[in-house]
Amino acid sequence: MIFFTPGPSQLFPTIPKHLREAMRNDIMSIPHRSDAFREIYKETAENLKKFLGIPETHSILFVASATEAMERIIENTIKKKSAHFVNGVFSERFFQIAVDLKKEPQEIKAPPGKGFNFSEIPALQKDIELVCFTHCETSTGVMLAMEDIESMATQNPEKIIAIDVVSSFPYAKIDYNAIDLVFFSVQKGFGLPAGLGVIIASPRSIEKARALQKKGFNVGSYHTFPTLVEYAEKYMTNETPNVLAIYLLGKVAKDMDSIGIEKIRHDTEKKADMLYEFLSHNSLFSPFIEEKKCRSRTIITVKTKKSPVEIISTLKQKGLWIGVGYKPFENEQLRIANFPTTRVKDMKNLIEKLSNFIA
Ligand SMILES: *Cc1c(COP(=O)(O)O)cnc(C)c1O
Repeated sequence: MIFFTPGPSQLFPTIPKHLREAMRNDIMSIPHRSDAFREIYKETAENLKKFLGIPETHSILFVASATEAMERIIENTIKKKSAHFVNGVFSERFFQIAVDLKKEPQEIKAPPGKGFNFSEIPALQKDIELVCFTHCETSTGVMLAMEDIESMATQNPEKIIAIDVVSSFPYAKIDYNAIDLVFFSVQKGFGLPAGLGVIIASPRSIEKARALQKKGFNVGSYHTFPTLVEYAEKYMTNETPNVLAIYLLGKVAKDMDSIGIEKIRHDTEKKADMLYEFLSHNSLFSPFIEEKKCRSRTIITVKTKKSPVEIISTLKQKGLWIGVGYKPFENEQLRIANFPTTRVKDMKNLIEKLSNFIA
């Protein structure tokens, strides 16, 4: 089976080899306080930094999921106010977490399937401390332009900027000088089993958490930024972490680095172009996102005149598993993940099978 599902997704092809090696080397039994574990953490952090061009100054922090990362970011960087660009389920979740934590978040909304008109957004209030973006809104397939996010960051130099790149990493190209907090989980673009979240944190965002803590604000318990960093500096974690996932991430980051980030981005573009080209010229399927510049390169949402359930089950019989539209679009849409694991020839194959539905 080849999975084009938005997550969990197709495993990176080197995973079976690394799993066998992990078994042979007792990765799942070694104590998390041992030098052997510290070596794994160090290697994973270094491989990620090299592959993604992350500055030496930034911390690589491990949490349980991207959803946890959202909660930690809210807890650790604001007294009260955050601003959230919301255009679907995942950006809304980030906002809702701030509500649940009794903060006073502000929502800047766009309808599902649309981006934001950044030039018309009024200046953000002075007391907003954190601005949150979802680079690719996985529920609808809208991708924000990185230039727009970076220019918001430049216009608001005193605010912490956070970005969810769960469904766009490692394709997304980040300016780590402009964006303080970048987070993802590993079961999407990295092609790993689920169960690990990663926060890439700037020194400034850690300082903010320390300052809040010093003033007596609640920044959480075992996963505060200061605690995460204190342990990360020793290549350790406070709790018993998902050692296997940290190990696999380091290995896959290295494998991807040997392919090269530019080649990965280039192939992602190529596969996205192929699929959008097909979707734009047939009688059955069409891209859900009308505005070309908002169309995600990594999560492609498809309007279909034929029942998604029927299409998905027919494709499954042919060894291809694609995703269904996110609620409330489950009866009229499909979602196709275009992650680094799937090859150009897999995308060709999928397009061919999709074209068989057209009478
Ligand atoms: C999948 C997804 C999440 C949630 O990730 P978890 O690892 O399940 O917490 C958050 N944001 C986006 C954009 C996603 O696609």
